Amino acid sequence: MTTGPEPAFRPAAPETLTTDVLIVGGGMIGLTAAIAVARAGLSVIVAEETPPPPTLLPAFDGRVSALAHGSCQLYRALGLYDALAADGQPILDIHVTDGRLGEAASPLFLHFHHGDVGAEPFGLMVENRHIRIALHRALERIADSSNRQFAQMSLNGAVLPETALAAEERVRLLAPVKVAATARDGAFATATLADGRAVRCRLIVACDGRHSPLREAAGIRTVAWDYRQAGIVATVEHERPHAGVAYEHFLPGGPFAILPMTGNRSSLVWTERADLAPALIALDAADFDAEMRRRFGTHLGAARAVGPRFSYPLGFHIATRFVERRLALVGDSAHGLHPIAGQGLNLGLRDVAALAEVLADGCRLGLDPGDPTLLARYERWRRLDSVVMGTVMDGLNRLFSNDAPPVRLLRDLGLAAVNRLPPLKKFFMQHARGSIGKLPRLLDGRPL
Ligand SMILES: Cc1cc2nc3c(=O)[nH]c(=O)nc-3n(C[C@H](O)[C@H](O)[C@H](O)COP(=O)(O)OP(=O)(O)OC[C@H]3O[C@@H](n4cnc5c(N)ncnc54)[C@H](O)[C@@H]3O)c2cc1C
Repeated sequence: MTTGPEPAFRPAAPETLTTDVLIVGGGMIGLTAAIAVARAGLSVIVAEETPPPPTLLPAFDGRVSALAHGSCQLYRALGLYDALAADGQPILDIHVTDGRLGEAASPLFLHFHHGDVGAEPFGLMVENRHIRIALHRALERIADSSNRQFAQMSLNGAVLPETALAAEERVRLLAPVKVAATARDGAFATATLADGRAVRCRLIVACDGRHSPLREAAGIRTVAWDYRQAGIVATVEHERPHAGVAYEHFLPGGPFAILPMTGNRSSLVWTERADLAPALIALDAADFDAEMRRRFGTHLGAARAVGPRFSYPLGFHIATRFVERRLALVGDSAHGLHPIAGQGLNLGLRDVAALAEVLADGCRLGLDPGDPTLLARYERWRRLDSVVMGTVMDGLNRLFSNDAPPVRLLRDLGLAAVNRLPPLKKFFMQHARGSIGKLPRLLDGRPL
């Protein structure tokens, strides 16, 4: 054995961070989950692979989310509602019609007025980027004052290599960093980050979106199908005010939704056959506007599309299990729906509220956040609701994307019948508001 001088350089051991809960994915669901789980009294690390600034700019995501009344209550309870409402448009009425291109809408329609189920609007339309900005600012507000760089970063769009935030020392955002691998055993879960660091925790919450790498790695299967439809999203400026009315116009290619935004603006979610969508998106402004107006109608006066256009492939999926040992699926990692009634994010926020409540109750009892009984309670609570919502949205899309005359006649009569039957109408309105079923405390606007 030879002895000699110590090597000049010895690589440092990779850093291991520890936390109660690791949230993988810092989209709208992951960031909301981080704030809610921290409120439950647990320490949280969020790992997001995309740097924050691009996700806060208009070109990243043109969608506008219809936050149902229940989701608004959750954001109220988390102290975020005022920030969202400052950039949001309340939905006061919902008007549903059936039609064909170039023909007048059927005279049989369905109209929901928010006043029929209470004083509050059906929900709030908020641009996704405003939701992201509000969530990042909430993290900033509760951040360690030494970390003011992040406030500047999210406001001026500069890219920083990594941002670490402390929420009363309980929430830390790591971005951009990808979770490369995870391992879960009886006592702990460990995630390996792409930069070589590791995170050791009690529970991993997968908020990593519809293609969820964590769900795949855990061997959780999905029931899934493709609608062969695309959701074309664009913002339209129009001459007359929309008065807070959301229009859902059913056309043979799929639903054409005109959703009220602030000012004389509306957001289109235009469902079209997937093979036709690329050509529509590529049209020049005049031709795109001409196609858009054939569907949009003239009720809001002259209208033109402004800003970028987006196209999203539409499909359905639901995970066969929502939990595994020390792992919970939340949001699009657990389920994905047709956006026919704008319920995908709302369903994910219901997951967040249920998981935070289960973890808060577990904390009070001194249980490990990865305790199988807590995870089983979360799964029981959320899976059935998700299956029901997914099936209803799937059925509606199939029913209303069908151009066969007998089907059209039946559904038009159905719309008119619901419009004239107050108890049935009220039932649908309560669904649209997201205020039906056993609600977690946060969805009722109550603290954890
Ligand atoms: C056209 C359209 C309109 C819609 N309109 C509405 C509406 O009006 N109302 C509504 O409620 N819903 C709506 N939805 C649905 C809603 O947009 C989605 O349900 C929601 O965005 C899902 O959010 P999420 O955070 O679960 O997933 P995502 O937004 O996909 O976020 C997942 C995040 O995980 C990150 N990630 C993935 N893997 C890793 C990894 N290994 N390491 C680190 N980070 C990782 C990704 O970078 C990403 O940021 C609509 C959907 C479409 C397509």
